[in-house]
Amino acid sequence: MPTTAAPESAGMWAPEVETLDRDALGELQLKRLRTTVRRVLAAQPRGAERLTDAGIAAAEDIRSLEDLRAVGFMTKAELRAAYPFGLFTVPREEIVRIHASSGTHGKPTVVGYTRADLDNWTDLMARCMTTAGVRPGMLVHNANGYGLFTGGFGFHQGAERLGATIAPVSGGFTARQVMMLHDLGGDVLVATPSYALTIAAAIREADIDPASLPLKLGLFGGEPWTEQMRDRLDRELCFRAVNFFGLSEMCGPGVAVECVEQRHGLHVNEDHFLTEVIDPENGGVLAPGAEGELVFTTLTKEALPLVRYRTGDIGRLSTEPCACGRTTARLEGLRGRIDDMVVIRGVNVYPSNIEHLLLSVEGIAPHYRLTVERPDVLDELTLECEAVGRGDEDGRRALAEQIVARLREHMGLRITVLVHEPDSLPRSEGKAIRLVDRRPKA
Ligand SMILES: [Zn+2]
Repeated sequence: MPTTAAPESAGMWAPEVETLDRDALGELQLKRLRTTVRRVLAAQPRGAERLTDAGIAAAEDIRSLEDLRAVGFMTKAELRAAYPFGLFTVPREEIVRIHASSGTHGKPTVVGYTRADLDNWTDLMARCMTTAGVRPGMLVHNANGYGLFTGGFGFHQGAERLGATIAPVSGGFTARQVMMLHDLGGDVLVATPSYALTIAAAIREADIDPASLPLKLGLFGGEPWTEQMRDRLDRELCFRAVNFFGLSEMCGPGVAVECVEQRHGLHVNEDHFLTEVIDPENGGVLAPGAEGELVFTTLTKEALPLVRYRTGDIGRLSTEPCACGRTTARLEGLRGRIDDMVVIRGVNVYPSNIEHLLLSVEGIAPHYRLTVERPDVLDELTLECEAVGRGDEDGRRALAEQIVARLREHMGLRITVLVHEPDSLPRSEGKAIRLVDRRPKA
């Protein structure tokens, strides 16, 4: 099935900042950084301590963006320790919205928005969705969960602000998703990549030809995904899949997005978020193009300003100009969180590395699960996936051998691979669980 072509005109929500020359952008960032520093010094003791330790006792002590490099990092552990409101710089009564990230390690991370924060976030989402190809009048089917997770409300607000029609379907009830997508005639599907595949399968089960639907765009975030996954999504749903990046500690989705024309790196909204890439081992700032951990400083946040926040996400930053005309830096090579990495006999493995190789094997469905165990002293990894068709056991064993050979050849990785019958693995209705950790807790 053919893939929908990119829209002809670029279309920008805020061309004056999206095409700002990089010197002028630096000046704007410096001015806003001073405002952030002033706010932290006045009202966030934990952050203020970091600043004064680095010799920054007043906003005017910041003379260039590089001065920030002397400041110690803020971590997710500190956000958790300040649970729920300990790092807020405004009285709780001035917070108009609370969101929280999932608490995989106990308590969630709580974030808050003043009215101005909410307005900025909404505007950023309208900007990102425009960059991703959404236009006024399009119907946006939002299958992200509405709740504490920022993915539901973020896209909802952005769609309304830019003048699209929002259908707040929320997650789950997949048969109903298909009915609504078909009956309302959605132009845009918002979901996690794994849930979009679940919806795609349900569309086929309902005997609907995906090419007959008006779908043009898929907006995806919430979990890392690969180019191979994008190819599958584009083919299965006959639209253009566009990648969003964000985290609730910054605002939620709205930090960075691909332009629909190029889909090559995610444009960072640098007028709101100052981005650094650091060596996760020693904390040193890396040059553009080098892979490391993403660190963000908020430039406009009122309720929860964060200076040099370590995200745990791995990627690269490119300042090369983009053919779309935007001058903002782009995030490339996003491959998930450092926490998702496992070391198997000396090889660093991210689930995204495996997804990349797995989905290049003909006859394999885009559903998989990794299980890491530690039977003795070493970590052991098992990859479970599914064949596309109902073949026999010999056929599935041959597929497994092919995957084993490919993992060994390309990654030097020796792991157990099991190829199951179609529909054997659990399906995602939100964030897919790619890695099941069965190692004993330290
Ligand atoms: Zn671009």
